[in-house]
Amino acid sequence: MTATASNAFTEPEERIALREAVSKLAGKYGHDFVAKQAREGGKMTEMWLEMGRHGFLGVNIAEEYGGGGGGMGDLAAVLEEASSTGAPLLMMVVSPAICGSIIGRCGTEEQKKRWLPSIADGSLLMAFGITEADAGSNSHKITTTAKRDGDEWVLSGQKTFISGVDEADAVLIVARTEDAKTGKLKPALFVVPTDAPGFEKQVIPMAWEAPEKQFTLFIDDVRLPADALVGDEDGGIWQLFAGLNPERIMGAALSCGTARYALEKAVEYAGTRSVWKDAPIGSHQGIAHPLAKVKIELEQARLLWQKAAALYDAGDDAGAGEYANMAKYAAGEIACNATDAAVHTHGGNGLTVEYGLANQLVAARLGRIAPVSREMILNYIAMHTLGLPKSY
Ligand SMILES: Cc1cc2nc3c(=O)[nH]c(=O)nc-3n(C[C@H](O)[C@H](O)[C@H](O)COP(=O)(O)OP(=O)(O)OC[C@H]3O[C@@H](n4cnc5c(N)ncnc54)[C@H](O)[C@@H]3O)c2cc1C
Repeated sequence: MTATASNAFTEPEERIALREAVSKLAGKYGHDFVAKQAREGGKMTEMWLEMGRHGFLGVNIAEEYGGGGGGMGDLAAVLEEASSTGAPLLMMVVSPAICGSIIGRCGTEEQKKRWLPSIADGSLLMAFGITEADAGSNSHKITTTAKRDGDEWVLSGQKTFISGVDEADAVLIVARTEDAKTGKLKPALFVVPTDAPGFEKQVIPMAWEAPEKQFTLFIDDVRLPADALVGDEDGGIWQLFAGLNPERIMGAALSCGTARYALEKAVEYAGTRSVWKDAPIGSHQGIAHPLAKVKIELEQARLLWQKAAALYDAGDDAGAGEYANMAKYAAGEIACNATDAAVHTHGGNGLTVEYGLANQLVAARLGRIAPVSREMILNYIAMHTLGLPKSY
């Protein structure tokens, strides 16, 4: 289709319709549902399964494996919409985006048939584990190791900050093989069932109140069949980035949704709260300008993730990597700034439990740290885009 002035910068009609449908469904749940579940130790399962039944969780997965046959741009639009209602589905970043993409691109026909249909309809949840306490941002230092024993693999190591393991049926674990134990990471990815003998999880108490919990994992000689390995142990780092670029795009979309939610709340309050004469506080530039700035920077971040997703869906992994990083940076910043501006606009109410914005401050902060920190993105852009010397 040839772009005209009116559609050159808009999404395709199907995606706009998808956004509307998701917004309607997610709006039934929204922030109040999430806050209640978090308070009472509940989960997002009801919304998750309803999203799955409507095909929203698997829009990026190929039709022949039960998905919608769309791309990462569609999945990210779904997450942005859900997040903008105050109901971000964190596990969408992990299960359909990271795990679905890696299995879809690197898995065998059998693995695709086995895992993708249930990831697509949400009936199976797959978590993802790369982070280790002693490696942190430097994934080249991970030590979780897989060794062959006949037809089987034996996996040992530890992981930390792994999301949603209590809800997951399996975790896609990033390890090294025994003969590539040190040096630059040659990732070997394994599907590990959460009920496998030798696999233990321990919840990490977090200051962020959310239905999704974070875990440290202890993997102690976990025996896995040969077909637990996804991709080729010598396939190289691109197999990992087949999932990490989607993770960054989805992280950006989630953060943009968080910023949209905060901005909407702030504008509503600024337009109705009046303390001087009869003018609402939004008539003061001290309140209006920060919100206008948020709107501009939010639209910048949204354009960046849309471009990153378009590059990924077109098969340009290098281009997608650069823009996914930039999008994640911009979106992480705007989620924090928008939430801060929303809290400030609400005055004292911004810090009450009733208005629910203070907990959003902590949630938004996640976008600056995970899945890749602001500083590591700046390192990447300085080095790879600008050609400056490596600084670390
Ligand atoms: C809520 C939550 C959910 C998560 N979910 C998952 C998950 O499901 N799966 C998973 O595998 N991981 C997950 N993570 C882990 C996350 O990806 C890491 O926290 C993140 O990659 C940063 O690693 P770190 O916490 O070890 O920080 P560190 O690497 O210790 O970094 C600490 C600080 O130092 C800075 N820094 C480090 N190196 C440099 C450098 N070279 N130059 C400049 N600054 C630098 C960082 O930017 C950061 O500010 C999650 C984390 C959180 C908080």
